Amino acid sequence: MIIGDPVEHSLSPAMHNAAYEALGIEDKFVFVAARIKPEQLRQAVESVRTLGIHGLTVTIPHKVDILNYLNNIDETAKKIGAVNTVVNNEGILTGYNTDWLGVITPIKNILPNIKNKKAAVIGAGGASRAMIYGLVKEGANVKIFNRTLDKARQLAEEFECEADSLDAISQVRDYDIVLNSTTLGMGDKISESPLPADLLNDKQLVFDAVYTPYQTRFLKEAEMKGAKIIHGVEMLLHQGVAQFELYTGVKAPVETMKKILVNE
Ligand code: NAP
Repeated sequence: MIIGDPVEHSLSPAMHNAAYEALGIEDKFVFVAARIKPEQLRQAVESVRTLGIHGLTVTIPHKVDILNYLNNIDETAKKIGAVNTVVNNEGILTGYNTDWLGVITPIKNILPNIKNKKAAVIGAGGASRAMIYGLVKEGANVKIFNRTLDKARQLAEEFECEADSLDAISQVRDYDIVLNSTTLGMGDKISESPLPADLLNDKQLVFDAVYTPYQTRFLKEAEMKGAKIIHGVEMLLHQGVAQFELYTGVKAPVETMKKILVNE
């Protein structure tokens, strides 16, 4: 089951159900409760225990508050400060975070060793926490660039990396990996990019967390400059793959899951 608000456009149920079907697993991933308000979260979690629901996918705005209602929280989720996956083992609920794997798995598919690589994370919101955690864990030298410098500084202190304001973005020219975790490039900011294209080049790996549209302006410009690119859909996919494996204990059919995300 998935909880969030809003959640009805989530691709998670279709992605997980395609994987169950491909492997002949009889579980079903359903929207039991589409719009859970923050004040209903405790009850929603209790119903997971009562109804014996095996797995819970947690999305905005509950990823932080849910920590208060679980029996166990895995060390990684504690460090990131957010849970996106809950496994129910006979009424004992354990919270995990797989968002960071959504970032690190596709990066390592292209760049297997990111130790000592310079990584610029643009943005300092929810998505950036998983990015920063993963990159620091893999030994990259991370700097956070954010419009609100204070938020970047707070995260940098927490994850032991550097911070700067978006005004200093021209430094990105010298970075190996450039990641967007802002909302620039989607919705009413669809025509915007987090940085000028002339800061991008063919030695860089460029990652966008934004997944609608599939190809953002940022990624289009990066590709035109010869950079390798990773779409936001890959993040969605690989956090889901890790989640599927926690729920089922079996290897996820990655290509089947990817088809759902790319075709829809
Ligand atoms: P969030 O917590 O609201 O953070 C938004 C970030 O964007 C903040 O750093 C904010 O800067 C920055 N920002 C917003 N408007 C800006 C502007 N006009 N100029 C410069 N910076 C601006 O959002 P989030 O939950 O981290 O989500 C961020 C993006 O990641 C969204 O597009 C979301 O869809 C995507 N996402 C993707 C996945 C995936 O699986 N692919 C997973 C999670 C999130 P300030 O701090 O200065 O406000």
